[in-house]
Amino acid sequence: MSDAVIFRGARVVDPASGRDETADVRVEDGSVTDVGRVSANHAEEFDCAGLILAPGFVDLHAHLREPGREDAETVATGTRAAARGGYTAVCAMANTDPVADSAAIVEQVAALGRAAGLADVYPVGAISVGLQGEQLAELGEMATSGARVNFFSDDGKCVQSAGLMRRALEYARAFDAVIANHAEEGALASGGHMNEGEVSSILGITGIPSEAEEVIVARDLALAKLTGARLHVPHVSTAGTVELIRVAKARGIRVTAEATPHHLSLTDDLVSGYDPVFKVAPPLRTREDVEAVRKGLADGTIDCVATDHAPHPPEDKEREFDLAPCGMLNLETALGVLVTDMVDSGLIDWPRLVEAMSVAPARVRSLTGHGGPVAPGAPANLVVLDPAATWVVDPGLLASKSKNTPFAGRTLKGKVVHTMLRGRFTVREGSDADGQR
Ligand SMILES: [Zn+2]
Repeated sequence: MSDAVIFRGARVVDPASGRDETADVRVEDGSVTDVGRVSANHAEEFDCAGLILAPGFVDLHAHLREPGREDAETVATGTRAAARGGYTAVCAMANTDPVADSAAIVEQVAALGRAAGLADVYPVGAISVGLQGEQLAELGEMATSGARVNFFSDDGKCVQSAGLMRRALEYARAFDAVIANHAEEGALASGGHMNEGEVSSILGITGIPSEAEEVIVARDLALAKLTGARLHVPHVSTAGTVELIRVAKARGIRVTAEATPHHLSLTDDLVSGYDPVFKVAPPLRTREDVEAVRKGLADGTIDCVATDHAPHPPEDKEREFDLAPCGMLNLETALGVLVTDMVDSGLIDWPRLVEAMSVAPARVRSLTGHGGPVAPGAPANLVVLDPAATWVVDPGLLASKSKNTPFAGRTLKGKVVHTMLRGRFTVREGSDADGQR
């Protein structure tokens, strides 16, 4: 007997091949072997009527915290959360301890991902040594390492020096790598803990203006034009940033961009209760900003959704608002937020959702084997989801070691049924395939 599986009668949404139709999908020996009408032949069958089958999701931006903060998250717990969220590939941010600014650390993170076996882990390399923003890290060494890093970011910290940013872009261009800069101008953001605006005035919390993001994005777009290199704008949070990217793309600048579930869903008035679970960088913005980010994702100005999954243990996060660290959990809830706020509200359709959560981010990092196509011979990196199932977010049930979800208690629509990594279930029938939950 083989280990073959047939997903029978799913709506196959695969923008990589242009397919959006009901079909059976057969998987064997790690690969898709057949798409269409598949006859029963020694395979385990799953009735997928009413379900959607798509290429597994790809996250360009997650903080897995290992090495260094294994009390907040490990590669194993973070990728378990990812698998439950429908992800088959996760990019691990470089702000670990030690920082992922060398071949040794990026290879360590990749190895931890392989050992956990729950999603492919692609390390992000730091732009600067120790995230200090002073000296360029050994980008070439990381690129040619076993981890083959082609995406660099000091995320959590902004590269403040235009000179360093220019050198990073020039260097990255030589091997067609991407530079992603956490856009937050230091002097404008200094001392700020939330969006600067009406709500921050009422609360008496020092704000961070939209312009702190926009002046850096504008600068970096100019530098991308100067160098001809590839720039990626992470976690777009303001209407002004969306407009800057729209104009830059029209001018042929090589830029891609991501939006997070929280910047597509939540606004700064949530900070009114001083609950640090709503503290994040860049901060939650206004309703007008959320509308602009949504529109940007819908029209493709913003290429993809990335989670910026940022676990913090309660002893760090549950403090006075101005002392608490920035960040939110997202890997397990991203799909539900996107379905609830973007698909159900008619802003995007299912092919666009799958493109934004899988095809487009895989393309940014040139990840072959992820982002589809769902076609014979391709690795079976797949998600099967129920677009109509609703569920209530219970922080106690999340796989992450930390519990700082801003969506606690919220009813979300859209739930993962199966996630498959190279033909092996990581999530099966809504539960961890290894029986953890
Ligand atoms: Zn960031």
